[in-house]
Amino acid sequence: MNSRQLLSRQHAIQQGNDGRPLFVTDAAVPALLPGHVLVKTFAVSLNPADHKILSNFPLPGAFVGTDFSGIVVEAADDVKEDTMIKPGTWVSGATFCFAAEHRLSSAAFSQYVRVRASLLLRPCPVPSPGGVGLLEAATLGTAVATCILALWSPDALHLPETPDKPGPTIEAVPVLVYGGSTATGTIAIQLLRLSGYGPITTCSPHNFDLVSSRGASAAFDYSDPDVAEHIKAHTGGRLKYALDCISNAASARLCYAVIQRAGGRYVSLERIPQEVLSVRQAVRPAFVLAAEAFREEIKLGHDGYDRPINKAKHELVVQYTEVVQRLLDQGKLTAHPVEMLEDGWQGVLKGLEFLASGGKLSGKKLAAIVDTENERTAEANAGTPCLI
Ligand code: NAP
Repeated sequence: MNSRQLLSRQHAIQQGNDGRPLFVTDAAVPALLPGHVLVKTFAVSLNPADHKILSNFPLPGAFVGTDFSGIVVEAADDVKEDTMIKPGTWVSGATFCFAAEHRLSSAAFSQYVRVRASLLLRPCPVPSPGGVGLLEAATLGTAVATCILALWSPDALHLPETPDKPGPTIEAVPVLVYGGSTATGTIAIQLLRLSGYGPITTCSPHNFDLVSSRGASAAFDYSDPDVAEHIKAHTGGRLKYALDCISNAASARLCYAVIQRAGGRYVSLERIPQEVLSVRQAVRPAFVLAAEAFREEIKLGHDGYDRPINKAKHELVVQYTEVVQRLLDQGKLTAHPVEMLEDGWQGVLKGLEFLASGGKLSGKKLAAIVDTENERTAEANAGTPCLI
């Protein structure tokens, strides 16, 4: 008897009629689609987008959540043929619920999540000391897809060097990661360093050690009024690339101010007002959406976000996901520090409330083990205890 026969209803977090996230015990288990697998969720982590989508694009009944780790329990027939993902494989990834039909059928904060097999990482359930375990792996999905598209997509930074084919580190080309202590930033810094670049970054001084441990060659305090001058002095005025992991008007202005006179490329993770972007024609801006990896139309009903299916971006992320897998296998990639939420789904609800109320995290990502009966729970339970 397979999981489908055993189970048709599941525990999940969905958006209630009042707009708030709600824990339900009778949500439908999603139907399997070609190219997809059904994963029994072990752990999840929280992204700013998980609560932003609820308030900015409310949809009562929508499933919630993006990042997860878990075990494959069912795979579509076409998946079994061409990937290493099959029932029994431990996986981690992200599911991007940006179209109503998708949002109403599956997301990460549920016992069973439906995802594209080709975008999944395969974490080791028993990692070597310091390696990425199943809890930490639940923090990787969005950050990895975002960084792949930001660093290597032709319309984004389009960097020539990669971790598979790194450039010479002796003359490392600087790349600014604005917001290096974000969950996206610590992954970007590592991928840049492994590709031979010299990542420089901004964050609060108490996170200088964190970003340096991930490979940043210099860190600057973004609250210092002279930060632009310090960055220009450090790069000798030859900074061509900036990835903005904060993406507000202030961070965009700073990135524009430090990109070299001859111009360069700037990537944001949120929409930046046109009046900020149009001050320098020599800088080419791009707004990256990780959801483009999912090979689905992005339909939020908002011009700035809505995008058609992009097969090329999906294929790019599939290709680089294998590169990231090799880095994980070789112990070369470290996950973002975790702040653990206790009490499974109730903890996830508390975390969502914390983010929605403007709660601030510094150099940490909220994560929870939701399959509390799994034998792996005790091993993975080594995360930082919850502070909220
Ligand atoms: P995160 O881990 O939640 O970010 C926390 C960090 O933000 C803190 O460590 C803090 O740095 C820094 N920070 C907070 N306010 C700041 C400010 N005003 N100026 C500079 N730094 C500030 O972030 P994340 O999950 O990586 O997400 C970052 C942003 O990207 C969010 O807006 C998210 O929605 C967006 N995002 C978009 C996509 C996409 O597909 N477009 C994908 C992923 C994320 P210090 O404590 O060091 O000061």
